[in-house]
Amino acid sequence: MSRPKILVLGAGYGGLLTTLGLQQKLNYNEAELTLVNKHDYHFITTWLHEPAAGTAPIEHARVDLDTILDKTKVNFVKGTVKSIQREAKTVTLESGETLSYDYLVIGLGSEPETFGIEGLREHAFSIRSLNSVRQIREHIEYMFAKYKNDPTRTDYLTFVIGGAGFTGIEFSGELSDRIPELCKEYEVDPSLVKIYNIEAAPTALPGFDADLVEYATRVLSNKGVEFKINTPIKQCTPEGVVLATGEEIKAGTVVWTGGVRGNGIVEAAGFEVARGRVKVDEYLRAPGHEDVFVVGDCALIFNDQGRPYPPTAQIAVQEGENCAQNLAALIRGGKMTPFVPHLQGTLASLGKGEGIGIVFGNKKLFGSSAALMKKASDLRYLYKLGGVGLALKKAKL
Ligand code: FAD
Ligand code: NAD
Repeated sequence: MSRPKILVLGAGYGGLLTTLGLQQKLNYNEAELTLVNKHDYHFITTWLHEPAAGTAPIEHARVDLDTILDKTKVNFVKGTVKSIQREAKTVTLESGETLSYDYLVIGLGSEPETFGIEGLREHAFSIRSLNSVRQIREHIEYMFAKYKNDPTRTDYLTFVIGGAGFTGIEFSGELSDRIPELCKEYEVDPSLVKIYNIEAAPTALPGFDADLVEYATRVLSNKGVEFKINTPIKQCTPEGVVLATGEEIKAGTVVWTGGVRGNGIVEAAGFEVARGRVKVDEYLRAPGHEDVFVVGDCALIFNDQGRPYPPTAQIAVQEGENCAQNLAALIRGGKMTPFVPHLQGTLASLGKGEGIGIVFGNKKLFGSSAALMKKASDLRYLYKLGGVGLALKKAKL
């Protein structure tokens, strides 16, 4: 009998943990396992705010797939998925190659949610991949260089961060750490640099613990970040942003951190989605498709109160592990286990040595203890991916 074909799309948190789980659980003769990813590396998305601001090297967030995949069990295809044909059970790559599957795992991650705001796609940066953060980092330096050539243009030294969710807050922390270094390097008066973090909701980090939000905004304000809360961005232009109040902020750099939606390939394939995410069943399968599993930011799951879980790496990892376990069970004629997330808390950085978090149910962490706990959580993830070797290589102690 021929081996069932398992095709995993995306080597992010969800797709990679599915693949590594199957690599560990299955013998090579039990399934034909293929992983497709745009690049031959995995990137640690949860660190991307650092290389984006220039406070950590870009290479640090990169893990080469050939160092963690077992070639005897996983067929890795470096390629970009163009479309999924559900009826034909095939996936087409931009190269023209077509791959067929018996079981499909979609882990293609997210893309920026722009809410149709004019000019965002064209004029704002977003933190989404190694290449996107390389662009942001280089652009920031370029703005300092441009200002030196034309000191009348102080707008080159103005930075707008659109959205004060976790991504916007973490990037604000890193950028405010980086600016003094750049001012020194380019001999620029630091008082000329402005960092605005602009948020539509009545508070930064909407829905998060009020004490921790207060702490985060205080720490960042002390580092020079100016918050404009309850102030939606209405338009982005080549010169900066226009706010719903009518105010225009001229800025050489706009980084959009206003939210994400599931990868557009999923909706284009005809799956039913909400903000690009598939409302999956208890086994993470797309409704009506017993052979299609969806993990990570492309999947939508709900808590007991019917509220959607936010798309996080923490959940994507657990989904990947559950999906691997269930696929192995299916192939061996066993029973699947429903997916139940086990939330371990939330930890966010506010720049070097600073952070906020909630762990162990309701324990609030402020400052260096949160930053330390975040490092421990990062280490645990690296250990899952590549054992002690990778954890030691990438540890940021
Ligand atoms: P991803 O990790 O985004 O991976 C998707 C993969 O698919 C990528 O490898 C990509 O290259 C590949 N891909 C995409 N399109 C194609 C295509 N067409 N063809 C082939 N391959 C493709 N969450 C937390 O829980 N904790 C945190 O501390 C945290 N910090 C964050 C910090 C930042 C700056 C950001 C931006 C997000 C953070 N998140 C955090 C959220 C977390 O990163 C995401 O929820 C997580 O990455 C989702 O995992 P995923 O597997 O769905 O997708
Ligand atoms: P988000 O949706 O969590 O936050 C986006 C923010 O932008 C919101 O506060 C929203 O009100 C604001 N916004 C939307 N439209 C706006 C407008 N027109 N003008 C101004 N502000 C606007 O998105 P995110 O921060 O990118 O996070 C995405 C996911 O990744 C979330 O699930 C988040 O929890 C997760 N994440 C987690 C961490 C962490 O745990 N440390 C870090 C980063 C991201």
